[in-house]
Amino acid sequence: MKKLLALLLIITIAVLPSCTEGRTEVYTAYTVAMDTSASVTVYGGNKQAAEDSLRLFEQLDKELSVTGEGSLVYFLNKNGEVTASDNLLYLVNQGNILKQETNGAFNPCIYPLVRLWGFTTDDKKVPSASELEAAVTLVSASDVSVERDKVRLSDGALLDLGGIAKGYASDLMAQLLAERGVESAIISLGGNVKTLGTKPNGAEWIVGINSPKGNGLVGTVSVGEMSIVTSGSYLRNFTENGQLYHHIIDPATGYPADSGLVSVTVIAPSATLADGLSTAFFVMGKDKAAECAEKLGVDVVFITESSIFVTKGIKEKFTPDSAIEGVYTVEYIC
Ligand code: ADP
Ligand code: MG
Repeated sequence: MKKLLALLLIITIAVLPSCTEGRTEVYTAYTVAMDTSASVTVYGGNKQAAEDSLRLFEQLDKELSVTGEGSLVYFLNKNGEVTASDNLLYLVNQGNILKQETNGAFNPCIYPLVRLWGFTTDDKKVPSASELEAAVTLVSASDVSVERDKVRLSDGALLDLGGIAKGYASDLMAQLLAERGVESAIISLGGNVKTLGTKPNGAEWIVGINSPKGNGLVGTVSVGEMSIVTSGSYLRNFTENGQLYHHIIDPATGYPADSGLVSVTVIAPSATLADGLSTAFFVMGKDKAAECAEKLGVDVVFITESSIFVTKGIKEKFTPDSAIEGVYTVEYIC
């Protein structure tokens, strides 16, 4: 099904003429990888760079996927050790830094728990309490380490880069576009948006933040060259006995994080950092996350059932949508 969708998208692109915005040529290319639909829009006519950046995204999926049998991560999880690529070495280091900065809310070795819930399969289910207890113990003792070009896992540990891989991919894709002379582009990898330069007319980009209630936007942020990454419980989930279970796991309990947040958007220059932090902040809850965000110098939009909390650093850049009146209150924090 995914392959078919990807093919359809490619065909659609092949027959779509590129259009122009003002006098600037605009071209959008699409694909599906990392379990998400992806698009790259370039301004100024460099179609090949847009296509090549998506090929890079597909390659990174093949290299980093936890379920793909030919991937380096799959090999590492099977054998406990692998001679790593530069990408894997970088991501393992970033995963460990994030784990430290977030007091373990981000855990790069979360896979035993993710697997137990079936989030990487078609068979999602609530595990038993004893299964969860054993996996929580395993994950909390897990360690992934780098020694020269080797990555090693402690006994039983399983790496899962799902919390940072898309962010990292968008960082590398933006780098590729810049190296090809693209000055103005927008990369969108399902919840991960990365902008390059400014709009062709020099204006800032306006990036929408989706409403977790599924009806339009809660607001927009205007940014220059930036990464805007959202993690939400409304994005990937399943319902059993009337209870919603989502894919962001609290490593301390083994259950989907229950911090009162339904969406976290992190705004930072590095998409790898923004991606990892959006996942971790979701687990930590607003107050601890806001403290951490201030320390790290990143901006955040937190959404609960009835409130939106925006860090003061982007107060002037955030515009609430008029439709949220009476649905959400907006507060500026930190
Ligand atoms: P998405 O991938 O849907 O954009 P996230 O960036 O929040 O959303 O990443 C969620 C993924 O990260 C999960 O599918 C899982 O692979 C992984 N993950 C879940 N919980 C954690 C956690 N506490 N620490 C690190 N990775 C996690
Ligand atoms: Mg993430």
